[in-house]
Amino acid sequence: MLAKAYDNRHHFTSGTPVWHRDLQRRVHRAVRRKGGTVISRPEATIKATFDATEFETWFTAISTIGATREGGVHRPFGSDEDKRVREWLIATARTLDLLVSVDAAGNIWGTLPGHSPDLPALIVGSHHDSVPQGGRFDGPLGVLAGLSVVSALTRAGIKLRHPLGFVSFTAEEPNPFGLSTLGSRLATDRLEPAIVHRAVDASDRTLRSALAAVGGDVERLATARKTARDIAAFLELHIEQGLRLQDAGIPVGVVTGICGIYREQIRVIGEANHAGTTRLRDRHDALLAGAELALCVEASVRAELSDEVIGTVGAFAIQPGATNIIPGSCDLVMELRAGTAAQRTRMLERIEHAVSEMSVRRGVQIKRTVALDQPEQAMDSLVQATLTACASARRIPTQPLFSMAGHDATHLATITRAGMLFVPSLGGRSHCPEEVSRPQDIEAAIQVLIDAVVALDHQLHRCADGRTARLHGEME
Ligand SMILES: [Zn+2]
Repeated sequence: MLAKAYDNRHHFTSGTPVWHRDLQRRVHRAVRRKGGTVISRPEATIKATFDATEFETWFTAISTIGATREGGVHRPFGSDEDKRVREWLIATARTLDLLVSVDAAGNIWGTLPGHSPDLPALIVGSHHDSVPQGGRFDGPLGVLAGLSVVSALTRAGIKLRHPLGFVSFTAEEPNPFGLSTLGSRLATDRLEPAIVHRAVDASDRTLRSALAAVGGDVERLATARKTARDIAAFLELHIEQGLRLQDAGIPVGVVTGICGIYREQIRVIGEANHAGTTRLRDRHDALLAGAELALCVEASVRAELSDEVIGTVGAFAIQPGATNIIPGSCDLVMELRAGTAAQRTRMLERIEHAVSEMSVRRGVQIKRTVALDQPEQAMDSLVQATLTACASARRIPTQPLFSMAGHDATHLATITRAGMLFVPSLGGRSHCPEEVSRPQDIEAAIQVLIDAVVALDHQLHRCADGRTARLHGEME
């Protein structure tokens, strides 16, 4: 039924883009006119094409695992559906002759050997878990893109110099253990093992047992760590989860960077009292102070006059929470996202100023604890340039985009060259059953990934050899 809904809504465009020699000459002329240098395009790229039918078969199959009545999927980390989707991915990867392994963080890796056994791998992937009652595209799109790249190159008989592989990371979405992007953080050594050892959910289930249930092992977490010696480049395809691409009518976004995320757990302590007999001037209402704090966050974001900063109070609870009692305390979580550290600092300064004035005026105490301080992360410039050049060679329009959502690529970028592509989310909807992207945009993006993997195999090999000193210059 899901497959049918997908079919009815959109159709993959027939055939696959072909690289015409004529077009190649025209593009090269245009690049030279702009004073640029032409990238030597390996012949192999021309032969490797995206198979829309194969992708659609996989997408339909994976979407049935944890399918919800509303047309989305429910696959939270550690659920039965999480386990079933893992089994499906491993079985499907094996049909492509990938050597599949599950690391101590539960991440699923599949690789094909390259010609040069000493080179690190080119990896394409994302995550397979979903938010509760989520959509079908967030995560699996990038994992299936990884399998599609492997399949396209295998069908074309192309063996790269680098090993080629896909990955599906564990627990990218927020989960009851409070540790999102868990698998990619563990794989890049961005999370203290001690935090993993003591993490429990609300029902006292340990993260240790949740990881063991999906093939992980907290005692061996060090073995899951990767470095630049393991991964030459990481590419992730994801839905945009916003409206910028759709509004611009552009099928593919090339991600320039991923925002920093900063969270504070805040407790406002006022005074509980009788709701009828306490005069306004005698009150220390924790809810009203908390509400004012949330408005301070909004005002502070507005003052930046930028779409690359945002702030939210997404959790808010009052005690004792009774009709005839003035709220005595209030717990909230404030989150700020910013493109630069300077923006975040300015927003925090404004909030600090407004909150200290407000707490004096209202006679409440405010306790703030930093819960997360993850810096913004730029995507690799060579990878960005390669993705853009490969798209333009196929006449696929692209737009550079900064990501205001966190992704596994944030962490991979700390150990290797990382890059991301976005496809438009129709209506900007995401983390809900209505989440959908158009097949023709997906087709365009995965074809760009296929071409980019071949191009990077060529470029990065030369880099490893030390024969090319100015790689970046070549791609500009
Ligand atoms: Zn995602």
